Amino acid sequence: MRPALATLIIALALAARAAHAQNPNLESIANDRYTRSHDFDLVHQHIAVRDFNWDSLSFTGSVSTTLIALRPAMDSVILDAGALLGIKRVASSSGSALRTGRHGDTLVIYLDRPAAFHDTIHFTVDYSGKVENGRGLTFIDERPHTPRQIWSQGEDRDNHYWFPTYDFPNDKMTWEVEATVPAGYMAVSNGALVADTKDATGARTLHWRQDRPSASYLVSLVVAPLAKIHDTWKNVPVDYYTYHADSALAWRLFHVTPDMIDVYSRLTGVPYPWQKYAQTTVADFFGGMENVSATTLVDWLPDAKSYQDRPWYQHILIPHELAHQWFGDFVTTENWANMWLNEGFAEFMPGQYWREKSGNHIAEDYYLDEYRQFMQIDARRRMPLASLGSNNIYPKGALVLEMLRSYLGDERFWAGIHRYLTNHAYGNAVSDDLRQAFLDATGENLDWFWSQWVYAAGYPEFTVTSSYDPATHRLTLAVRQTQRDTLKADSAGMRYVVPETFRMPVTVRIGTAMGADVVRTKWIRQRDDTIVIDNVASPPTMIVFDDGNRILKRLTFDQPSAQLATQLRREENLWNRWWVIQQLGARTTDETAVRALADAATSSDYFLTRAQATSALGAFPAGIVVPTLAKAMRDTSSQVRQAAVESLGRVGGAESLALVRGAWRGDDSYSVRASALTALASLDTAGSRAAIVEGLRTPSYRDAIQNAAIGAAVRTDDTTFVTTMQQMIGDQQLPSYALAAMVVRGSDRALKLLLSDLDDARPYVRQWALTAIVQSLGPARGLAALKSVQQTLTHLDTRAAVDRAVKQLEAAAKQG
Ligand SMILES: [Zn+2]
Repeated sequence: MRPALATLIIALALAARAAHAQNPNLESIANDRYTRSHDFDLVHQHIAVRDFNWDSLSFTGSVSTTLIALRPAMDSVILDAGALLGIKRVASSSGSALRTGRHGDTLVIYLDRPAAFHDTIHFTVDYSGKVENGRGLTFIDERPHTPRQIWSQGEDRDNHYWFPTYDFPNDKMTWEVEATVPAGYMAVSNGALVADTKDATGARTLHWRQDRPSASYLVSLVVAPLAKIHDTWKNVPVDYYTYHADSALAWRLFHVTPDMIDVYSRLTGVPYPWQKYAQTTVADFFGGMENVSATTLVDWLPDAKSYQDRPWYQHILIPHELAHQWFGDFVTTENWANMWLNEGFAEFMPGQYWREKSGNHIAEDYYLDEYRQFMQIDARRRMPLASLGSNNIYPKGALVLEMLRSYLGDERFWAGIHRYLTNHAYGNAVSDDLRQAFLDATGENLDWFWSQWVYAAGYPEFTVTSSYDPATHRLTLAVRQTQRDTLKADSAGMRYVVPETFRMPVTVRIGTAMGADVVRTKWIRQRDDTIVIDNVASPPTMIVFDDGNRILKRLTFDQPSAQLATQLRREENLWNRWWVIQQLGARTTDETAVRALADAATSSDYFLTRAQATSALGAFPAGIVVPTLAKAMRDTSSQVRQAAVESLGRVGGAESLALVRGAWRGDDSYSVRASALTALASLDTAGSRAAIVEGLRTPSYRDAIQNAAIGAAVRTDDTTFVTTMQQMIGDQQLPSYALAAMVVRGSDRALKLLLSDLDDARPYVRQWALTAIVQSLGPARGLAALKSVQQTLTHLDTRAAVDRAVKQLEAAAKQG
């Protein structure tokens, strides 16, 4: 699973909170607390679904289940089955009806005679299916750019809301999905397509068979009118399913997939393990979901122009979900407390792919982004990787695995990964199984690494000071770890630990005026440690603590600007460059700092460094930096040009305004134009109205320019924009939020329009208006607004939704 970035942090914070409530005390993962017990082995399910009804959110289901008894005298089978599933009949393999019982989301099937230990049991459940929309299945009605469709989402425990199953990852099965869909529709599911038939009415039945075992949360179904674009890796079908209107965009976006499959197969030593790979795009999805051999993805297909802005979709999303086909689907976490084994690996692997394709810099770029996400998440709540509901399994998982790769070296690292995947092929694993695989493959017991990086929370915060003795040619580094274990036990008594001391080797690189760098690697073993380096012939011109950035850390190391400038000029590693840029960027009256940054902004060999230095220059006086920013505006990289536009917006002045206006008019990149519009509106509040109006009408990938225009319009407090926003209602969701923002800024007319949208003929417009009111107005104002129209709404579905929202807001108001 990979939520889009904006929703990622919110989603993870919520997950952490939700899971936390039921989390018992732990220091490390004691698996008996987290792994669910059951008394059978689920072997195979045949899931047949038909008669989908978008109005009633219903369908007809028939599921045949084969399982093996794991206790003697077994007289009943307990399955997970959503309470809304209306059980019509359960029949044994001989056809006789079996007695059933229902308890909430549980279905009990009483066998006609007790089964012996290891007996095979077979039965079929016929039911009338119904869901709460978005739970297990999501039904979506037709709207502009979006055909009517249905998609499933199982992870982590939602598949039993649409078919009876054992809904926990520690029991793998094979399965078939046979879906009958309306004429003109496609149904995509896991495994190989074994039949595709039409009946007299034109209804189509597609029969998919997943014949290699995986977990029930990975059962998938997408029903929609879809175009299929066929590709291959070796003899394996690699198919892309999109709306017909998007099919021309699919090849360029997805055609990287076979190469990614190739690289992952080579790195892991495990060839792609499934019968096919499908990627299917759907509406209103949160990002991507790695359903085995049939990934589901958002429908945000980039157009040709947006590739220069390196779309997240191709850079992260496609390789992330593909990595799950090995990590998550082939070897699956045994329980949700070890979910980092799924998500950490999936977040780690794209960086490895990009390194194989384009070298170290792009990989360092990728992990630097992970580092910045990790720091944000860790600041909110500090949790270990291996813990239920852990909030940092994505970026910290990626960073810890990259650290391990760097520590072990490629050959030993991938040998350990190969051992892990083959030891647990088509099975489950917990965190310690990974440690054991490295022990098996390399002979090295990584207990120390696991205890500080997997089972404990936090990271080392280093404060380093240096002194050089010219008489003895000795450089001494005092290395102090300052992280504090301030985590408190929660109401359940659970408390995570931050190590007082992280132990690891660290490499120091020292530049001198004479000859080659002095490079030494020493182990740090104490909270207050000292690194002594002899034979440093002359005073250092540069001191790099943690050469190559091999440690996940925060670093405080005060050094003269000249030393930092030398490092920035010579440094290969992107994290280290970024760190130096932060140091120099804070020295806004220092000439050496501005010269070093200007040099990096215009001549660094990698665009990210140029962009970061360009951003840092935005804090310096306009008179000094505008010529450099003007040069950066002509960079071949849109990311650098975007950073330049943003910095010009910060430094201000007539010259900046002219440059920003030029970028708005003439740049080819959506991102640059969006940032230019934002900068323009802040630099020229009176003169930017025409540009904002034009921006509101300018289509761009993921509405980057329109979103910037809406943001600028809201900030102008120009009330005439209220009408413009209302005209855009229905094209996209953001104008509803813009109206809500204008209400907050005091516009009664915006409120009137927003409330009138609750009676719009289009259901999605009503939904968007309600969402904007509930999320943006605040409880008191939102409540008053909704109550004022509650009795007058004409659409029953919206009236019910408003009633529910009013109750929720009232409850929230009571809580304070
Ligand atoms: Zn994922």
